[in-house]
Amino acid sequence: MNCPRCGKTIDEHEPGPELRACMAEVVMKWEVVTDKVGIAYAVDDAGGKHWLRRGLVGVCWFPDEWIEDSWEVVEKFLHCERITMEWVRDEQIWWVCIVKDYDGPDDWWVGTAPALPLAICRAALKALT
Ligand SMILES: [Zn+2]
Repeated sequence: MNCPRCGKTIDEHEPGPELRACMAEVVMKWEVVTDKVGIAYAVDDAGGKHWLRRGLVGVCWFPDEWIEDSWEVVEKFLHCERITMEWVRDEQIWWVCIVKDYDGPDDWWVGTAPALPLAICRAALKALT
């Protein structure tokens, strides 16, 4: 399954500014704007500006790394869908995030990653693709 914004395979979408831009647009429905020097930021529903990469002064939004930001993504789903999370241990510890749509037929999407925020992002992107 590929990201509807950049075309990357979602399971291989690594953390970083590009994934954050995809999450902002596809999942949060925020606008992603590029400023005069080519730095992208997302504008939330209230007009708040969120940088998508490190090293800038102001508010950042890193749902692929920071659990408090990925929780905003989870909250998007809680209104109409139920989200469940669990981790499975293999040779490494992997996080598995499952989004299940109880209103639909048998729709469910799985995101896996070494860290929970990234697993949440991958599952959310799949659910909205
Ligand atoms: Zn993408």
